[in-house]
Amino acid sequence: MKIHEYQAKELFRKYDVPVPQGQVAFSREEALNVADLLGGYPVVVKAQIHAGGRGKGGGVKLAPSRQEAGNIADEILGMTLVTHQTGPEGRLVQKLLVEAGQDIAKELYLSMLVDRETAKVVIMASREGGMDIEEVAANTPEKIIKIYVDPLMGIQNYQLGELGFGLAIPKPARKQFAGLVRQLYTLFVANDCSLVEINPLILTADDQVLALDAKVDIDSNAMFRHKDLLEYRDLDEEDPQEVEASKFNLNYVNLDGNVGNIVNGAGLAMATMDIIKLAGAEPANFMDVGGGASADQVENALRIILMDEKVKAVLINIFGGILRCDIFAEGVVQAAKKTGINIPVVVRMEGTNVDEGKKILADSGLDLTSAVDLKDAAAKIAAAI
Ligand code: GDP
Ligand code: MN
Repeated sequence: MKIHEYQAKELFRKYDVPVPQGQVAFSREEALNVADLLGGYPVVVKAQIHAGGRGKGGGVKLAPSRQEAGNIADEILGMTLVTHQTGPEGRLVQKLLVEAGQDIAKELYLSMLVDRETAKVVIMASREGGMDIEEVAANTPEKIIKIYVDPLMGIQNYQLGELGFGLAIPKPARKQFAGLVRQLYTLFVANDCSLVEINPLILTADDQVLALDAKVDIDSNAMFRHKDLLEYRDLDEEDPQEVEASKFNLNYVNLDGNVGNIVNGAGLAMATMDIIKLAGAEPANFMDVGGGASADQVENALRIILMDEKVKAVLINIFGGILRCDIFAEGVVQAAKKTGINIPVVVRMEGTNVDEGKKILADSGLDLTSAVDLKDAAAKIAAAI
C-alpha cells in the first residue's frame, strides 16, 4: 500500500526521524493558514500524489512570500501533474503539503527495502541524492552504497559508520545521522514496510540532517496487523477497477492491452498472459479468481473486466481443480446474463466436471467460442481481436 508524503512524514515524526515542519492542506486558504503557522518564508508547496518526480513536473515549488504561496497553491491544486512515474495521463492534485523551506547544503539519498535474494533489509545510500537518482543508479552504480541488515542482529555500529563515511557526513552530524538510520530501520520493521525512501535526505548549513522527502510503501499482505495504517489508504490514488476487485478478494491488475482474461491461479494467469502475447495480442489485465472461487466471484470478475472500455475480447482460461468447471460455468452464465456481453469471449476449460461445465455453457444460449487447448484459445482470441 502506498501512502502520501505527508502521511509518511507523520510516521517519521512518531519515530523521531527529523522532518521539516509542515502540514497538509486541501485548499488555498488552508495552505495559507499552514504558511502563517510556520511563521516565515520561504515555504515549500508540494503536490501530494502517489508518484515521485514531482519536482521536475512542476509539483514542488518554493514560495518566497505569502502572496506567492497563495499563487502557487492555486496553480498546483487541481493541476494534472505529469511525472515520469505517473504515465502520460498524469494525476489530479487534490492535496498539498506546505512546509518550512530549508537551507540545503547537500542532498543525499537514503532508502531501505527488502532484498529478496539475501532475505534481508538492504539500506541503500548515495552522496548523489536529489532528483536524478535513477541516472546515478543506471550510469554510476558504484556511487550507491548497499548495507545488508541481519534480521536477528539488527543494524550494527560498524554499518552505521560505513554509511556515514560513505555519505561524507560531517563530524557534528554523525550522531544525529546514526540515530536517524536506526529509527528508520525500527519504523521499517515495525510497520512491515516494503520500501522507505528519503530523497533527498539533506544536510543543512548548520549540520542538521533532515528528511526533505519521504516515501513509504507498506506490504499489503501485512495490513491485517496494521489497522491503524488503513486510514492512510487513499482510494482517489488507486485504479477504480482494482479497488472494486479488491472488495471481492480478486487479484486484479490493470494493464494496457485489449484482451481481458480471467484465470484461476497466479501461475496460470502469467502463462495465459504470455500465450496471449505470443499469439500477437496484448493482455488488458491480470485477473486471478483464485483456486476456490465461487460463482459470485466469477461473476464479479467478469463484470469488472467488462467495465474496462479498452477490453475488446475476453479469454477465460480455467483449470478446474478446487474450482470446479460447472461452478465456474454457472458464474459465467450469471454474469453474462446480467451484464450482457457484446464482445467475443473464448473459453478454454479443463479439469474437474469439465463436461458438466461445457454443457452449462452450451445450453446457456450465449455466444461463446470454446477452445480445445491453450494454443487454440490464444489463436482464437488473437483472431477475434
Ligand atoms: P520529488 O521530485 O517528487 O522527489 O519531490 P521532492 O520532495 O524530492 O522535492 C524535489 C526537490 O525540491 C528536492 O530535491 C529539492 O531540491 C527541492 N526542495 C524541496 N524542498 C525544499 C526546500 O525546503 N528548500 C529548497 N531549497 N529546496 C527544496
Ligand atoms: Mn524526492
